[in-house]
Amino acid sequence: MICDVYCRGCGESFHSTNDKFDRELDPDGEHMTADMFVLKEPYVSYGWSDFPKDSWYTGNSLCCPSCETPYPDSEGRVKTVVKSVTCKVCWKEYVHPGSLKRHVEKEHS
Ligand SMILES: [Zn+2]
Ligand SMILES: [Zn+2]
Repeated sequence: MICDVYCRGCGESFHSTNDKFDRELDPDGEHMTADMFVLKEPYVSYGWSDFPKDSWYTGNSLCCPSCETPYPDSEGRVKTVVKSVTCKVCWKEYVHPGSLKRHVEKEHS
């Protein structure tokens, strides 16, 4: 699920999640891995480095690139806001990129 990740320290959002991240499960620090997070633009263009995509890079290692506050709180929860994806043809909004893809295949092909 694509969400914007908000830092609990500075309130900024530098990362988003990809569809490996399941917000319904509210994964705790143990199950949250770097490969669920994607550095957003324009920070990629600024040359900021994304999290190392190693499987050991989890939980409190996942820190805000600006203020270094770990993303998970004491209960291992990360502050995320669901980001919808929009159909470029009819402007319907979908939460899951997979649903949008199915919609496009069904309605606009
Ligand atoms: Zn921060
Ligand atoms: Zn559409």
